[in-house]
Amino acid sequence: MRNWHIYQRKKKSYIIREISKKAKVRVPADLGDKRLTLNWEEIREMDNNGVSFGAHGVNHAILTNLPFDKAKDEIITSKKEIEEKIGKKVTAFSYPNGNYNQHIIEFLENNGFSCAVGVQGKLVSLQASIFELPRLIAFENFNTFKLMLSGLLSDLIEIKAKLKAKR
Ligand SMILES: [Zn+2]
Repeated sequence: MRNWHIYQRKKKSYIIREISKKAKVRVPADLGDKRLTLNWEEIREMDNNGVSFGAHGVNHAILTNLPFDKAKDEIITSKKEIEEKIGKKVTAFSYPNGNYNQHIIEFLENNGFSCAVGVQGKLVSLQASIFELPRLIAFENFNTFKLMLSGLLSDLIEIKAKLKAKR
């Protein structure tokens, strides 16, 4: 576990350095190695500059594994804490590990949420349910990420699989 965290920190500092070089902005010196998460000051700054924040539970517990009362508590407590810290309504939810069920969706719908995202790696279509929105991972390889955003990556993977099957 410790090695994983060290690896994540190094990877994070590398990504931050690369982005700051491209964006031509200076990042605070302590950002690279000490923390994996944002602090509230940084969250407020980002929130004031066009990045919106949603709730994701308090303990990153898999909601479908919890008694329903505990799942509700994870959802509401995380929403309220962010709302208190940023002074705005939090209306988006991200299911920890992408796990949810119909009870959880209904609870979100009835408790001030307007949408939720899972971990299904697809583009959002008009048919998508607003509480089951798919989401793409931001790949380190920017070209792969661009292909993914264009919707072509899934087509390319499908074509590759078909060609492989013919051989
Ligand atoms: Zn998570």
